[in-house]
Amino acid sequence: MSDSVIIVTGGSRGIGASTSRKLGALGHTVVVNYAGNEAAASGVVGEIRAAGGKAEALKADISREDDVLRLFQAADDLGTLKGLVNNAGVVDQSIRVDEMSLERMTRIMNINVIGAFLCAREAVRRMSTKHGGHGGVIVNLGSAASKLGAPDMYVDYAAAKGAIDTMTVGLAKEVALEGIRVNAVRPGIIDTEIHASGGAPDRVDHLKSQLPMKRPGTSDEVADAIVWLMSDQSGYTTGAILDVSGGRAILP
Ligand code: NAP
Repeated sequence: MSDSVIIVTGGSRGIGASTSRKLGALGHTVVVNYAGNEAAASGVVGEIRAAGGKAEALKADISREDDVLRLFQAADDLGTLKGLVNNAGVVDQSIRVDEMSLERMTRIMNINVIGAFLCAREAVRRMSTKHGGHGGVIVNLGSAASKLGAPDMYVDYAAAKGAIDTMTVGLAKEVALEGIRVNAVRPGIIDTEIHASGGAPDRVDHLKSQLPMKRPGTSDEVADAIVWLMSDQSGYTTGAILDVSGGRAILP
Protein backbone atom coordinates (compact mmCIF):
# COMPACT_ATOMS: atom_id res chain seq x y z
CA MET A 1 0.00 0.00 0.00
CA SER A 2 2.93 2.38 -0.42
CA ASP A 3 2.56 5.37 -2.73
CA SER A 4 -1.05 5.88 -1.83
CA VAL A 5 -3.07 8.57 -0.10
CA ILE A 6 -4.43 7.92 3.37
CA ILE A 7 -6.62 10.37 5.29
CA VAL A 8 -6.21 10.39 9.06
CA THR A 9 -9.01 12.40 10.64
CA GLY A 10 -7.79 14.10 13.79
CA GLY A 11 -4.29 13.25 12.60
CA SER A 12 -2.69 16.20 14.35
CA ARG A 13 -2.62 15.05 17.96
CA GLY A 14 -2.62 11.90 20.12
CA ILE A 15 -3.36 8.56 18.45
CA GLY A 16 -3.96 10.22 15.08
CA ALA A 17 -0.58 11.97 15.14
CA SER A 18 1.25 8.71 15.96
CA THR A 19 -0.66 6.97 13.17
CA SER A 20 0.13 9.74 10.68
CA ARG A 21 3.86 9.55 11.48
CA LYS A 22 3.95 5.76 11.09
CA LEU A 23 1.97 5.77 7.82
CA GLY A 24 4.20 8.56 6.49
CA ALA A 25 7.30 6.55 7.32
CA LEU A 26 5.88 3.65 5.30
CA GLY A 27 5.68 5.82 2.18
CA HIS A 28 2.03 6.77 2.14
CA THR A 29 0.97 10.32 1.39
CA VAL A 30 -0.77 11.27 4.62
CA VAL A 31 -3.57 13.80 4.84
CA VAL A 32 -3.32 15.10 8.40
CA ASN A 33 -6.81 16.40 9.16
CA TYR A 34 -7.47 18.66 12.13
CA ALA A 35 -10.28 20.85 13.46
CA GLY A 36 -8.62 23.94 14.91
CA ASN A 37 -5.08 23.45 16.20
CA GLU A 38 -3.10 24.36 13.10
CA ALA A 39 0.24 24.41 14.90
CA ALA A 40 -0.13 20.78 15.97
CA ALA A 41 -1.08 19.69 12.44
CA SER A 42 1.82 21.62 10.89
CA GLY A 43 4.14 20.05 13.43
CA VAL A 44 3.16 16.50 12.44
CA VAL A 45 3.41 17.32 8.73
CA GLY A 46 6.85 18.85 9.33
CA GLU A 47 8.04 15.72 11.13
CA ILE A 48 6.81 13.43 8.34
CA ARG A 49 8.47 15.56 5.66
CA ALA A 50 11.71 15.84 7.65
CA ALA A 51 11.82 12.04 7.70
CA GLY A 52 11.47 11.97 3.90
CA GLY A 53 7.72 11.34 3.75
CA LYS A 54 4.80 13.11 2.13
CA ALA A 55 2.03 14.81 4.09
CA GLU A 56 -0.42 17.70 3.93
CA ALA A 57 -2.36 19.33 6.77
CA LEU A 58 -6.05 19.90 6.00
CA LYS A 59 -8.47 21.71 8.29
CA ALA A 60 -11.99 20.27 8.27
CA ASP A 61 -14.63 19.74 10.92
CA ILE A 62 -15.74 16.18 10.18
CA SER A 63 -19.20 16.84 11.61
CA ARG A 64 -19.85 19.27 8.73
CA GLU A 65 -20.68 17.72 5.37
CA ASP A 66 -19.28 20.63 3.36
CA ASP A 67 -15.98 20.36 5.24
CA VAL A 68 -15.81 16.60 4.67
CA LEU A 69 -16.45 17.01 0.94
CA ARG A 70 -13.68 19.61 0.78
CA LEU A 71 -11.32 17.35 2.73
CA PHE A 72 -11.79 14.43 0.34
CA GLN A 73 -11.59 16.63 -2.75
CA ALA A 74 -8.28 18.01 -1.50
CA ALA A 75 -7.07 14.44 -0.92
CA ASP A 76 -8.07 13.54 -4.51
CA ASP A 77 -5.64 16.18 -5.75
CA LEU A 78 -2.78 14.34 -4.01
CA GLY A 79 -3.33 10.91 -5.61
CA THR A 80 -5.47 7.80 -5.28
CA LEU A 81 -7.18 7.36 -1.95
CA LYS A 82 -6.33 3.96 -0.48
CA GLY A 83 -7.25 4.39 3.14
CA LEU A 84 -9.17 6.24 5.81
CA VAL A 85 -8.38 6.25 9.51
CA ASN A 86 -11.61 7.43 11.09
CA ASN A 87 -9.87 8.69 14.20
CA ALA A 88 -11.20 12.15 15.14
CA GLY A 89 -13.26 11.94 18.30
CA VAL A 90 -14.23 14.00 21.31
CA VAL A 91 -15.43 13.57 24.88
CA ASP A 92 -17.03 16.18 27.13
CA GLN A 93 -17.21 16.95 30.84
CA SER A 94 -18.07 14.06 33.18
CA ILE A 95 -21.77 14.34 33.97
CA ARG A 96 -24.84 12.12 34.27
CA VAL A 97 -27.33 11.62 31.45
CA ASP A 98 -30.01 13.51 33.41
CA GLU A 99 -27.75 16.59 33.31
CA MET A 100 -26.95 16.53 29.60
CA SER A 101 -28.08 19.33 27.30
CA LEU A 102 -29.32 18.70 23.79
CA GLU A 103 -26.39 20.79 22.54
CA ARG A 104 -23.86 18.48 24.16
CA MET A 105 -25.56 15.28 23.01
CA THR A 106 -25.79 16.63 19.48
CA ARG A 107 -22.12 17.61 19.41
CA ILE A 108 -20.99 14.23 20.73
CA MET A 109 -23.11 12.33 18.21
CA ASN A 110 -22.31 14.64 15.30
CA ILE A 111 -18.54 14.40 15.65
CA ASN A 112 -18.16 10.80 16.87
CA VAL A 113 -20.88 9.14 14.79
CA ILE A 114 -22.08 11.33 11.90
CA GLY A 115 -18.55 12.54 11.18
CA ALA A 116 -17.27 8.96 10.97
CA PHE A 117 -20.18 8.01 8.69
CA LEU A 118 -19.64 11.01 6.38
CA CYS A 119 -15.96 10.18 6.03
CA ALA A 120 -16.65 6.46 5.50
CA ARG A 121 -19.20 7.34 2.82
CA GLU A 122 -16.74 9.52 0.92
CA ALA A 123 -14.02 6.88 1.23
CA VAL A 124 -16.30 4.13 -0.11
CA ARG A 125 -17.39 6.35 -3.01
CA ARG A 126 -13.73 6.59 -4.04
CA MET A 127 -12.30 3.17 -3.12
CA SER A 128 -15.13 0.75 -3.96
CA THR A 129 -14.68 -1.24 -7.16
CA LYS A 130 -18.43 -0.76 -7.59
CA HIS A 131 -17.72 2.93 -8.08
CA GLY A 132 -14.66 2.37 -10.30
CA GLY A 133 -12.15 2.50 -7.44
CA HIS A 134 -9.29 0.14 -6.72
CA GLY A 135 -10.15 -0.94 -3.19
CA GLY A 136 -8.81 0.23 0.13
CA VAL A 137 -9.05 0.05 3.88
CA ILE A 138 -11.01 1.86 6.58
CA VAL A 139 -9.99 1.70 10.23
CA ASN A 140 -12.40 3.17 12.76
CA LEU A 141 -11.53 4.25 16.29
CA GLY A 142 -13.93 2.80 18.80
CA SER A 143 -13.46 2.77 22.56
CA ALA A 144 -13.58 0.34 25.46
CA ALA A 145 -16.28 2.74 26.69
CA SER A 146 -18.71 1.06 24.29
CA LYS A 147 -18.57 -2.02 26.52
CA LEU A 148 -18.19 -0.26 29.89
CA GLY A 149 -20.87 2.40 29.29
CA ALA A 150 -18.91 5.18 31.05
CA PRO A 151 -21.51 5.84 33.80
CA ASP A 152 -21.29 9.22 35.57
CA MET A 153 -18.81 10.37 32.91
CA TYR A 154 -20.05 10.27 29.33
CA VAL A 155 -22.66 7.67 28.49
CA ASP A 156 -23.32 9.69 25.32
CA TYR A 157 -19.73 9.17 24.15
CA ALA A 158 -19.85 5.47 25.08
CA ALA A 159 -23.05 5.04 23.07
CA ALA A 160 -21.51 6.90 20.14
CA LYS A 161 -18.61 4.45 20.19
CA GLY A 162 -21.14 1.60 20.32
CA ALA A 163 -22.46 2.95 17.04
CA ILE A 164 -18.92 2.81 15.65
CA ASP A 165 -18.64 -0.88 16.62
CA THR A 166 -21.88 -1.60 14.77
CA MET A 167 -20.96 0.51 11.76
CA THR A 168 -17.68 -1.39 11.50
CA VAL A 169 -19.43 -4.76 11.31
CA GLY A 170 -22.18 -3.62 8.95
CA LEU A 171 -20.06 -1.61 6.54
CA ALA A 172 -17.44 -4.37 6.42
CA LYS A 173 -20.08 -6.81 5.13
CA GLU A 174 -21.58 -4.21 2.78
CA VAL A 175 -18.31 -3.62 0.91
CA ALA A 176 -16.58 -6.98 1.38
CA LEU A 177 -16.91 -7.79 -2.33
CA GLU A 178 -15.87 -4.30 -3.40
CA GLY A 179 -12.20 -4.43 -2.41
CA ILE A 180 -12.63 -2.61 0.89
CA ARG A 181 -11.85 -3.94 4.35
CA VAL A 182 -13.35 -2.18 7.38
CA ASN A 183 -12.06 -2.77 10.89
CA ALA A 184 -11.92 -0.97 14.22
CA VAL A 185 -9.42 -0.52 16.98
CA ARG A 186 -10.94 -0.18 20.42
CA PRO A 187 -8.49 1.56 22.80
CA GLY A 188 -8.65 1.49 26.57
CA ILE A 189 -7.04 4.28 28.62
CA ILE A 190 -4.45 5.90 26.40
CA ASP A 191 -2.20 8.73 27.55
CA THR A 192 -3.34 11.60 25.31
CA GLU A 193 -4.82 15.08 25.75
CA ILE A 194 -8.39 13.82 25.23
CA HIS A 195 -8.81 13.38 28.99
CA ALA A 196 -7.86 17.01 29.68
CA SER A 197 -10.27 18.13 26.95
CA GLY A 198 -13.01 16.40 28.93
CA GLY A 199 -12.00 18.30 32.06
CA ALA A 200 -10.10 15.39 33.66
CA PRO A 201 -6.36 15.97 33.05
CA ASP A 202 -5.48 13.56 35.91
CA ARG A 203 -7.76 10.77 34.65
CA VAL A 204 -4.93 8.56 33.43
CA ASP A 205 -3.03 8.87 36.72
CA HIS A 206 -6.16 8.20 38.77
CA LEU A 207 -7.16 5.12 36.80
CA LYS A 208 -3.89 3.43 36.07
CA SER A 209 -3.74 1.38 39.30
CA GLN A 210 -7.10 -0.16 38.31
CA LEU A 211 -5.84 -1.30 34.91
CA PRO A 212 -4.71 -4.91 34.42
CA MET A 213 -1.26 -3.75 33.24
CA LYS A 214 -1.17 -0.92 35.82
CA ARG A 215 -0.31 1.61 33.14
CA PRO A 216 -2.05 3.47 30.33
CA GLY A 217 -1.37 2.65 26.71
CA THR A 218 0.60 4.96 24.46
CA SER A 219 -0.51 6.53 21.21
CA ASP A 220 2.20 4.57 19.43
CA GLU A 221 0.86 1.26 20.75
CA VAL A 222 -2.59 2.03 19.33
CA ALA A 223 -1.10 3.32 16.08
CA ASP A 224 0.81 0.05 15.59
CA ALA A 225 -2.50 -1.83 15.60
CA ILE A 226 -4.06 0.68 13.18
CA VAL A 227 -1.09 0.41 10.82
CA TRP A 228 -1.35 -3.39 10.81
CA LEU A 229 -5.05 -3.20 9.98
CA MET A 230 -4.25 -0.72 7.19
CA SER A 231 -1.63 -3.06 5.73
CA ASP A 232 -1.90 -6.01 3.38
CA GLN A 233 -0.71 -8.21 6.27
CA SER A 234 -4.27 -8.11 7.58
CA GLY A 235 -5.71 -9.02 4.18
CA TYR A 236 -8.26 -11.55 5.53
CA THR A 237 -9.31 -9.36 8.46
CA THR A 238 -12.51 -7.39 8.00
CA GLY A 239 -15.35 -6.54 10.35
CA ALA A 240 -12.94 -7.07 13.26
CA ILE A 241 -12.81 -4.96 16.40
CA LEU A 242 -9.37 -5.16 17.96
CA ASP A 243 -9.13 -4.29 21.66
CA VAL A 244 -5.95 -2.35 22.41
CA SER A 245 -6.77 -1.84 26.05
CA GLY A 246 -4.10 -3.60 28.11
CA GLY A 247 -6.76 -6.11 29.16
CA ARG A 248 -9.36 -3.50 30.19
CA ALA A 249 -13.00 -4.28 29.46
CA ILE A 250 -12.36 -7.64 27.83
CA LEU A 251 -15.53 -9.66 28.12
CA PRO A 252 -15.29 -13.40 28.93
P1 NAP B 1 -6.96 13.78 21.15
O1 NAP B 1 -5.56 13.64 21.63
O2 NAP B 1 -7.92 14.62 21.93
O3 NAP B 1 -6.91 14.31 19.62
C1 NAP B 1 -8.12 14.52 18.96
C2 NAP B 1 -7.85 14.83 17.50
O4 NAP B 1 -9.12 14.92 16.82
C3 NAP B 1 -7.15 16.16 17.27
O5 NAP B 1 -6.30 16.03 16.15
C4 NAP B 1 -8.30 17.11 16.97
O6 NAP B 1 -7.92 18.22 16.17
C5 NAP B 1 -9.21 16.18 16.18
N1 NAP B 1 -10.62 16.61 16.16
C6 NAP B 1 -11.44 16.87 17.20
N2 NAP B 1 -12.66 17.23 16.76
C7 NAP B 1 -12.60 17.20 15.41
C8 NAP B 1 -13.53 17.49 14.39
N3 NAP B 1 -14.78 17.88 14.65
N4 NAP B 1 -13.11 17.38 13.09
C9 NAP B 1 -11.85 17.00 12.79
N5 NAP B 1 -10.93 16.70 13.73
C10 NAP B 1 -11.30 16.82 15.02
O7 NAP B 1 -7.66 12.34 20.98
P2 NAP B 1 -7.05 10.85 21.11
O8 NAP B 1 -6.99 10.50 22.54
O9 NAP B 1 -5.85 10.72 20.27
O10 NAP B 1 -8.27 10.00 20.50
C11 NAP B 1 -8.29 9.58 19.15
C12 NAP B 1 -9.46 8.62 18.98
O11 NAP B 1 -9.30 7.51 19.86
C13 NAP B 1 -10.82 9.24 19.29
O12 NAP B 1 -11.79 8.73 18.40
C14 NAP B 1 -11.10 8.76 20.70
O13 NAP B 1 -12.47 8.72 20.98
C15 NAP B 1 -10.48 7.38 20.65
N6 NAP B 1 -10.14 6.85 21.97
C16 NAP B 1 -9.20 7.47 22.75
C17 NAP B 1 -8.92 6.93 24.00
C18 NAP B 1 -7.90 7.55 24.94
O14 NAP B 1 -7.82 7.12 26.11
N7 NAP B 1 -7.12 8.51 24.51
C19 NAP B 1 -9.58 5.78 24.44
C20 NAP B 1 -10.53 5.19 23.61
C21 NAP B 1 -10.80 5.74 22.37
P3 NAP B 1 -7.69 19.69 16.87
O15 NAP B 1 -6.52 19.55 17.79
O16 NAP B 1 -7.44 20.61 15.71
O17 NAP B 1 -8.96 19.99 17.62
